Amino acid sequence: MIIAGIQCYVHNYGQIYGKCTNKEIIMSKPKVSVVKVAPPEGNASFMNGKYVRIEEDVQKIKKAVAEAVELAIGSLDTIIKEGDVVLIKPNLAFQAPPESHAVVDPRTIEAVVSYVKENSKAKKVLVGDNPSLGMHVGRAKPAFKDSKMEEAAYLGGADEVIYFDEHDVVPVEIEGAKIFKHATVFKPFLDADVVINLPKMKVHLAGTVTLGLKNWNGIIPNCHPDGQQQGAHRIELGQKMADLYRVRHADLTIVDSVIGMEGQGPHAGTPIEMNLIVAGADTVSVDAVAASIMGFDPMEIPAIRCAGTEGQGEIDLAKIEVVGNSVESVMKHFKRPGGDPIGMYAGLTCIMQQTCGGCHVNVRGALDSFAISGIDMKKFLEKSGEVVVIAGGVPDIDPQFCADKNVFICGDCWEIFPSADKVREAASLAKSVTYYPGCAPVYIFAQLNADLQKLAAAK
Ligand code: SF4
Repeated sequence: MIIAGIQCYVHNYGQIYGKCTNKEIIMSKPKVSVVKVAPPEGNASFMNGKYVRIEEDVQKIKKAVAEAVELAIGSLDTIIKEGDVVLIKPNLAFQAPPESHAVVDPRTIEAVVSYVKENSKAKKVLVGDNPSLGMHVGRAKPAFKDSKMEEAAYLGGADEVIYFDEHDVVPVEIEGAKIFKHATVFKPFLDADVVINLPKMKVHLAGTVTLGLKNWNGIIPNCHPDGQQQGAHRIELGQKMADLYRVRHADLTIVDSVIGMEGQGPHAGTPIEMNLIVAGADTVSVDAVAASIMGFDPMEIPAIRCAGTEGQGEIDLAKIEVVGNSVESVMKHFKRPGGDPIGMYAGLTCIMQQTCGGCHVNVRGALDSFAISGIDMKKFLEKSGEVVVIAGGVPDIDPQFCADKNVFICGDCWEIFPSADKVREAASLAKSVTYYPGCAPVYIFAQLNADLQKLAAAK
């Protein structure tokens, strides 16, 4: 923006950001900090499947959190007033142990809570979330316990860990939303004076990556009668997450990038050591920078693209001030997630022709989990027989192909396609049939795997 003849200062969170002595005002760019964590000693064990908490590691992460926050916003006083209730919203996506690397690192939880407690005048610091996705995936209380986040939050000095799913929801009309216009949102999230968004740096089968924007999935219930999360994951997930983000923007986003997840995330990927903290006030910019560090163009990520093109934040790296370390100096190209289950595993045939991503990616997630569970696929097929997974409209199916096989039929929509009778015939010829209702039946990524395991264990 240029205004002739004016000399001015541009401020950023109370600090003088730059002095323009020429004839233009430079609008302040959103700031995103990228700070290195001194390599935690416990990483090697953690990445090999055994989480260990070492006090110095927590302190190393806390030091990086402090530097990242201060570089990005100056001080917590710019967002937290005396007496405020602060909610830290981590990514507690699943009821899973820390070694899954599918949830925020407990050391980062402890570091962030402790930093906020010691460096703000908050009345209370809360940590709250609701594990995502289907009703089979878990409740908040055991999820907080199993992930060791609860223990970490209290070690850091949290006043309370909030199990969102034990609280009321509030109907919210989302102003400006394109698709996801009506949400039911957990009350503690709306009641907090300040919200700190604490996602993890991970890839995601349906969302390509999951960072700050996708982390809002936890503010809506996973088994509410109106199926909020199920519907959000049907298709247009990125637009829906951008819409949901409008409920309330975070005051600060801190990405746990100590150990990320690449490959078949968000739950079946592999850990990748990054030793970084990425932070900023504009979640969209933070996500754009974090995605770039992971080797993605922000425009490849549906949620970031939608939020950015709608003007909810900046995604053009040229218009973001990256402070601390440059994106190029810390970038690692994360292995990309593959969401297509067709042809992945011999003997596990997927028939999906008029089928949307809501079923596709969750079947892929389930089959990946089954394949990496240590199962001997050859023995499984010899003993249990072949598997066929069907979803959506399948005009080209030959019902005879399913004869004497274990058939799993996913979702609700297959019944409204003209091919429904062929699916019914296929089911009648099958050795066993399991139905997974819902749209999207997101829980199948866990349930289909569990049912295949049961089949494998059956005498
Ligand atoms: S049931 Fe049909 S519409 Fe729903 S997610 Fe599956 S394929 Fe898509």
